[in-house]
Amino acid sequence: MAANRLLQHYVDNARRLPWRSMPGEAPPDPYRVWLSEVMLQQTTVAAVTPRFRRFVKRWPTVEALAAARDEDVLSEWAGLGYYARARNLIACAREVAERGRFPECEDELRKLPGIGAYTAAAIAAIAFGHRALVMDTNVDRVVARLHGIDAPVAESRPMLRAMLDAMTPREHAGDFAQAMMDLGATICRPKTPDCGACPLQSDCVAFASGEPERFPAPKRKAIRPVRHGIAHWIEHNGCVWLVRRPAKGMLGGMAALPGPEWGDEPRPAGPVIGGVTHVFTHFRLELAVVAATRAEGEGWWQSLDRIDTAGLPTLYRRAAASVLASRSALAA
Ligand code: SF4
Repeated sequence: MAANRLLQHYVDNARRLPWRSMPGEAPPDPYRVWLSEVMLQQTTVAAVTPRFRRFVKRWPTVEALAAARDEDVLSEWAGLGYYARARNLIACAREVAERGRFPECEDELRKLPGIGAYTAAAIAAIAFGHRALVMDTNVDRVVARLHGIDAPVAESRPMLRAMLDAMTPREHAGDFAQAMMDLGATICRPKTPDCGACPLQSDCVAFASGEPERFPAPKRKAIRPVRHGIAHWIEHNGCVWLVRRPAKGMLGGMAALPGPEWGDEPRPAGPVIGGVTHVFTHFRLELAVVAATRAEGEGWWQSLDRIDTAGLPTLYRRAAASVLASRSALAA
């Protein structure tokens, strides 16, 4: 059975980590499991290891941490990620100290500050031996490869969860969870899986395909909506008319070519003399530059020779450049 082979591989190869009990030893202290999982959410095992040692030397128990001063914990947390996590850590330690111990089941653990589904499952399985499904990105990838699921993980997570459920043994839940995490972190790596060293190779659909690294597919890129804009090019005596955009909104307060608000539909306009496609974070703008004759709104005449000094943002600098480039192409 795949789970047995994986467990045996873990017995032979488990990484020795300061928050971990080795196979066959008594389960680790839930305080240390919880603390390590919170630290590992944003930082690597290599970076966390010395920081974890220092932290538990200073506060060896959840009660000691609960009694610590907030500012001491926050300064000890420096470099370990968001301070919101450290604040939750303090709040959680105080709640656990008041209860007298960590709860054992996932549902109760999830009620504690800062403990989400993943951390609750990890504590329940590793510290208390409960059968819980511990799914991090490494485990997601291993399961997807074993079953040849090539959809992006975000689109197949319920199925991956059911598959992990089917392969998780009743016994040794903590070792199994850690074995899967280790396999994903050290052997079934994202770009270069070391299938030759993998105890699950004979069960693995991705390995059989010959291109295991293709599974699962990367996250799909969000499709940006398209917006349309018109910029008016009003030129007189070697100068172009510029305005300042309203203080609020996109490119607020910046110099610009005049024109109506951008919209979702392309609008009919005068003769198009230039244009650009510009990608903003949340949409793509198709900006057409059309010739116009009358200065509009409050603004100023900017010499075309010195257009670079007008403080135009990239969008309008590119739009102006497109007009000037098409003009020199016609003149050539
Ligand atoms: Fe990952 Fe290769 Fe093992 Fe399959 S055989 S689980 S792709 S390391």
